[in-house]
Amino acid sequence: MVALRNARLATGKLVDVGIAGERIESVGRLAESAGSFDCGGRLLLPAFIDTHVHLDKVLIRDELAEHDGTLAGAIGAVHARKRAYTVEDVRTRARRVIESSVLLGTTRLRSHVDVDTIGGLTPLEGVLTAANDCAGIADVQVIAFPQEGILRDPGAADLMTQAMAEGAHVVGGMPHWEPDAESQRRHVEVCFELGERFDRPLDMHVDETDDGSVRTLEMVADEALRRGWSGRVTAGHVCALAAADEEYAARVIDKCARAGITIVSNPVTNLVVQGRGDRGLIRRGLTRVAEFRAAGVNLCFGQDCVRDGFYPFGRGDMLEVVLISAHAAHLATHDELSFALDAVTTNPARAWCLDDYGVKPGARADLVLLDATSWEEALRLQAARSRVWFRGRPVAETQVTSRLLA
Ligand SMILES: [Zn+2]
Repeated sequence: MVALRNARLATGKLVDVGIAGERIESVGRLAESAGSFDCGGRLLLPAFIDTHVHLDKVLIRDELAEHDGTLAGAIGAVHARKRAYTVEDVRTRARRVIESSVLLGTTRLRSHVDVDTIGGLTPLEGVLTAANDCAGIADVQVIAFPQEGILRDPGAADLMTQAMAEGAHVVGGMPHWEPDAESQRRHVEVCFELGERFDRPLDMHVDETDDGSVRTLEMVADEALRRGWSGRVTAGHVCALAAADEEYAARVIDKCARAGITIVSNPVTNLVVQGRGDRGLIRRGLTRVAEFRAAGVNLCFGQDCVRDGFYPFGRGDMLEVVLISAHAAHLATHDELSFALDAVTTNPARAWCLDDYGVKPGARADLVLLDATSWEEALRLQAARSRVWFRGRPVAETQVTSRLLA
């Protein structure tokens, strides 16, 4: 057994954590033994989960033509580069970001991967290969994502089926990208049918637009309720809800709560992409984080983009994602900051249906030790991730030294 001594839990309690194989065996006080690691009173958290990232597109920004900065501009700007993707190219870039994420304390990632008639299944193959390369340091789930639509991209439906047959873990979607409400509804149905056929959960891009009259979230919630898909559906972005009227917002949030839908907000990307046409009061691309939370809906924060056509920054750092999201979503009280931690740990774990997540006996020992003594201090200082464990084994280490010279 390995003992992690003097670890500070998020509750502030000082404990020893005993690990046997890939699982946590005990959390409490342990007798002196060999094979121990001194955490020095620093903060030990369950390793972060990035439940919304696009690994096929990462790190291509410098190769794209400049565009107007909008979602449509970014999607268009990626086309030429996507046509030129090779499996090896996607694999190498995805791998770099998975490795960077692990160094920063994330050991589970869920990646959308474009499935369309431009790139075919090359992005899927590239990310699946990278996931396999990195199987010793992280779990990477892949979502088949119809970035160009399903009905408006003839051939995409067949490719989506192929993607699921070839090992995609989750069915993606992007209903608001279809031209009218009827095709949006059909798009949602096609995704649920695929999920049912392959017995896979759904994780869709939903209403990533400033237009408050776009309402595919309700279509997704209605379909989930109709089919009794509780706890198996995730909706990402959900920006339009910020601009929707109060009556619709209250109705659809209630449906999401009843359907057990998880909402993933991606403030870091949406803060720079949305609201670009606004003057005066500028929409900032955020969904209704506070209202979802008040309604008891499971809510997560995701990285979404790393240096691609949509977003110029990002490095797979969930501590950075939380800091930016906290600013954007008005999270500042102790209670709100504690919720922000849940949004990158236990909430995505719930969306993934993990029952062995956390710092508790029986949980898989995916852990991150931060160079701080509390969660709020770690967040404020963007503390170094001193050590990261995946399945009970140390897989990354960071040491930072800085000092004044005068
Ligand atoms: Zn996204």
